[in-house]
Amino acid sequence: MGISATLAATLFVIAAPSGAGKSTLVNMLMERGAGLQLSISYTTRPPRPGEVNGRDYHFVDVAAFIVMRERGDFIEWAEVHGNYYGTSRPALERQMANGRDVVLEIDWQGAQQVRQQFKQAVGIFILPPSIEELERRLRARGQDSDVVIQRRVAAALGEMRHVGEFDFVIINKDLAVALEDLMAAVHASRLRLHSQQARHPDVFRFLELG
Ligand code: 5GP
Repeated sequence: MGISATLAATLFVIAAPSGAGKSTLVNMLMERGAGLQLSISYTTRPPRPGEVNGRDYHFVDVAAFIVMRERGDFIEWAEVHGNYYGTSRPALERQMANGRDVVLEIDWQGAQQVRQQFKQAVGIFILPPSIEELERRLRARGQDSDVVIQRRVAAALGEMRHVGEFDFVIINKDLAVALEDLMAAVHASRLRLHSQQARHPDVFRFLELG
């Protein structure tokens, strides 16, 4: 069964530049138990301290990634900051087939590919409240040099220019407010006509809408 056949589950695509607080927000969303399951991506990036294979990512080498890519295993893939990232098609199909909504935490390039194949996917973009705040958050992360910070800010700006390709925008100024907004976007998406039709066919049956 193809992904588009499994309409009862909604596919959420969440993107953001680094420094916008995406991982924190997505982790909080998952903890709230909103009936969502997170897709675990494949990456050629080495694990960071504390990251666990199979939980944070499936960490693979470039050769293994290319084999999967050539086999058509990825519903989308992209090169981000010199590493490959991809979403497994069979794993996603399995997750969607069990009826629960799925969250893809991917970059804008991947989001474009998902949208082409799955028109009803819901795109959510997380923005920082300002460039100054983004820069401050990037600085607070570590001992990166000014040059590196400026490069990361420029990269973030490039990513943010794709915000117009998304359905919902969350501005992460205050974490608690941003989480409420994110949950509201998820909730609203589930109330769209086709989602309601897929989830509650009995309610619509007597209308004979086909
Ligand atoms: P990080 O290496 O910091 O975990 O992620 C770097 C970027 O890659 C983030 O923007 C993240 O959303 C994106 N990313 C993670 N997994 C995937 C994936 O499966 N596909 C795509 N296209 N981007 C991904």
